[in-house]
Amino acid sequence: MNVCESDKLGLALSTYGALKVDVLQEADVVILNTCSVRAQAEQKAFSFLGRAEEFKQENPGVKIVVVGCMAERIGSKIKRRFKNVDLIVGAKDIDNAILKIADLCNIDYSLLRKIEDSSSNVVRYVTIMRGCDNYCSYCVVPFVRGGEISLNALDIIEECSLAVKNGAKEIMLLGQNVNSYKYKDVNFTSLVKKIAEIDGLERIRFMTNHPKDLSDELIDMMATASKVCSHIHLPMQSASNKILKAMNRKYTYEHYVGLVKKLRTATPDISITTDIIVGFPGETKEDFEETLKAVKEIRFGGLYAFRYSPRPDTKAANMLDDIPFEEKKSRHTLILEESNKISVEIVASMVGSVQQVLSEKIENGVIEARTRSGRKVFVKDRNEKDLGRRLNVSIKEAKVNSLFGDII
Ligand code: SAH
Ligand code: SF4
Repeated sequence: MNVCESDKLGLALSTYGALKVDVLQEADVVILNTCSVRAQAEQKAFSFLGRAEEFKQENPGVKIVVVGCMAERIGSKIKRRFKNVDLIVGAKDIDNAILKIADLCNIDYSLLRKIEDSSSNVVRYVTIMRGCDNYCSYCVVPFVRGGEISLNALDIIEECSLAVKNGAKEIMLLGQNVNSYKYKDVNFTSLVKKIAEIDGLERIRFMTNHPKDLSDELIDMMATASKVCSHIHLPMQSASNKILKAMNRKYTYEHYVGLVKKLRTATPDISITTDIIVGFPGETKEDFEETLKAVKEIRFGGLYAFRYSPRPDTKAANMLDDIPFEEKKSRHTLILEESNKISVEIVASMVGSVQQVLSEKIENGVIEARTRSGRKVFVKDRNEKDLGRRLNVSIKEAKVNSLFGDII
């Protein structure tokens, strides 16, 4: 979601002639889009701000802007600690960020209305909802991004159509819990069906899905709508019912496994990926073992594992953070080791197969593409003409998470 919002800011600024630079030292305006989900993300942002301030001391004309969740949560603290920050725009006010940045840089923002999406990316991110109402007990998102709001379905379809007109082949729909999208009589399944009608669009993906709201209707639609990719990111967080309850996730492990079965029956080649938190307050060795066992048994296509960190305002922040850091680290490593082992086995089993891929990028003659299940595939000795095309690739080699092959 942050990547999507950063892209949008970049796109808007580029219509004023701004150029994106890759290193801090070349910037006239430094915009830091922040995340508050984990403590580590905030620490990283603080250290970047330290570097940005040093840079500004040597180059006083430089402007520093902080946007996003940290700006929302602790904007005034940032301002006190980093006196050289020029502008702070919180996550709830992100739509006005561009106006405020234009103001700061003395840009005539009446030009703003002329912004047309002219980005030529093959994959485009489209936000369909904001905020979240779920209040998982560890999560700061509802506090920094506010309550759940589903965006106007017609605007979403128009944004997707425009992106396709400009060359997009794949749309990735974004929201904290896309399954609960509801705008008037349009639910998530009917929204995806409408988007799938756009001519020229090849693929649709979406994230994130909440297991408590994943409907049979959506599972069936994923199996039958040819443009919808066979990948679902379905965060499990834990396999211990005691921990799931304390996390306020509102489903049991049995319910989660039931969804996995339904998804695999409906779409046999589906890749299911997940998020896991280790070291949540009260997570005993036995609770953790249940999660590790689930990772082994479910055989996720991939996963993100996080060490629990208490976040302000959340319910879990009042619980005793009783798992020592070293123990969290070791549980984290065990989950990652298991998941990597499974990933290696899955990609190895794909060697010799033919995969339909969509080429997303090209660099030095190497195409970066993705299978319908979301695996990266690299193809050497190709040219720009292949960009944005659907190709059949014979898989010759597999490494950790990636595949290598030739077009047939
Ligand atoms: N809305 C999405 C996820 C948003 S945050 C969902 O419900 O799945 C992304 C991931 O960060 C979460 O799935 C969770 O695994 C992790 N996360 C959130 N808060 C955390 C915390 N306090 N400590 C560690 N990991 C956390
Ligand atoms: Fe956070 Fe839970 Fe909402 Fe996801 S569903 S954003 S984890 S509160």
